[in-house]
Amino acid sequence: MLTQAMANDFGQLVQLDDSDSGEGNRDSKIVSEKRLLGMDTVSLAARMLEIGEPAWRGPQLAEALYRQRIAEINDITTLPKLLRQKLIDQGWEVGRPRIAQVFQSVDGTERYLVQSPGNGLDLQTVETVWMPEGDEGESGDGTEPVDPDQELKAGEKKKWDRATICVSSQVGCAVNCQFCLTAKLGLQRNLTHGEIAGQVIAVLDRHGIEVGRDRVNLVFMGMGEPFLNYDSFMGAVRILVEEVGLSPQRMTVSTSGIVPGIERFALEPAEVRPKLAISLNAPNDKIREALMPINRKWPIAAVIDAVRGVKLRSRERITFEYVLLGGVTDQAEHAVEVARLVRRSGLPAKVNLIAWNPGPGIAYSMPLHEDVEKFRGTLAGEGIPTYVRRARGRDIYAACGQLKRTVEG
Ligand code: SF4
Repeated sequence: MLTQAMANDFGQLVQLDDSDSGEGNRDSKIVSEKRLLGMDTVSLAARMLEIGEPAWRGPQLAEALYRQRIAEINDITTLPKLLRQKLIDQGWEVGRPRIAQVFQSVDGTERYLVQSPGNGLDLQTVETVWMPEGDEGESGDGTEPVDPDQELKAGEKKKWDRATICVSSQVGCAVNCQFCLTAKLGLQRNLTHGEIAGQVIAVLDRHGIEVGRDRVNLVFMGMGEPFLNYDSFMGAVRILVEEVGLSPQRMTVSTSGIVPGIERFALEPAEVRPKLAISLNAPNDKIREALMPINRKWPIAAVIDAVRGVKLRSRERITFEYVLLGGVTDQAEHAVEVARLVRRSGLPAKVNLIAWNPGPGIAYSMPLHEDVEKFRGTLAGEGIPTYVRRARGRDIYAACGQLKRTVEG
């Protein structure tokens, strides 16, 4: 088995096996053995044939799992009772992750502790976030703002118009960005297709979202680096697009700059490819290396080169995510450098500025409001579409870079 090793800032070696380079997912196969969620219609049909049932049971199962969002085999009443019992007797389960705990923010954001079925809380929980009005991260993609006075109340008909679900791809993360709480966990394990898509399905269900009627954005920006769990990430995207019916143009994946992952991503067909965001966070390699050790392996120029290979749809832009750390990355000279970097890339791009969210044990400062505004003004003055992402759910540790399981055990 191929093994890569990446030194983190503390000199430890983080082992990245071949699943991390996107060529397989050993953990996923162990975890997902008898779970239906995560299989597409074709695989479900194949499973049915294997157990002596007609292939057309496959589409029936897909309808139940992905469109009707049924969470228990026994509740799939389109299947005969005998077949349901047969599946259960053989050890099959739907395998939908369960929302084990909900933290509600004063701003309407909800942070969920999501638990994989059949497992304890320790290594099997991730965090998923629901932002009823988004966080402005999708600004510049043609969507319209909503009335900020609208609020979602339990049991009420929906009042949001442009919700965003932030999805995790790994338990913990190996990338070790110095400003990120998730990094403190290290990488615990990869999530499976079903566990990634299942987070979305569980949240769609909780909010009674009707796919096709309600507009929902997905951002793969939760715990983990999606491109270090590439097969499961893209497997989940395919399920969400082809089976659940969500549009890839309403999905954005953010990477810290995993070049082999970006190169694979560039080959994905437009029908299933989400939009791409690069987590830039620094104006040059020197500062970026100090904040994101991954930059030693793939510096900014290499990342931008790889991004150039992605064939964008008409009007699509690459997003550069930029976390502003007070006094570290938010000064006037940094803004000038970022503007130059973005212009020189030649990419149709926009910049999302994120004022850093504080977390325990991380010694950075929030940027001053006026520095954020000046930074935005400098980039905008250079003709670069620039948006300040609203801090959502800061009070419940749901804001960007704050996700870390805080209630396990
Ligand atoms: S910012 Fe993203 S890539 Fe970096 S450590 Fe946190 S979760 Fe991982």
